[in-house]
Amino acid sequence: MGTCIEQAVCPKCGKKGLFVNTEDWKPVAIRCYSIKKCGWNVDLKQFWPKKEKAP
Ligand SMILES: [Zn+2]
Repeated sequence: MGTCIEQAVCPKCGKKGLFVNTEDWKPVAIRCYSIKKCGWNVDLKQFWPKKEKAP
């Protein structure tokens, strides 16, 4: 699943259009529309707080 953000501009190639991948309604990754030409993508999971380990 995913959501398109047509107004967003890719910081790498400068073209409009980003795609947000979602998992269980949470954004897990964001990438450029022209993934084959540009290849820009960011893993959003790394910004999430890690699950607390059971004591
Ligand atoms: Zn791009």
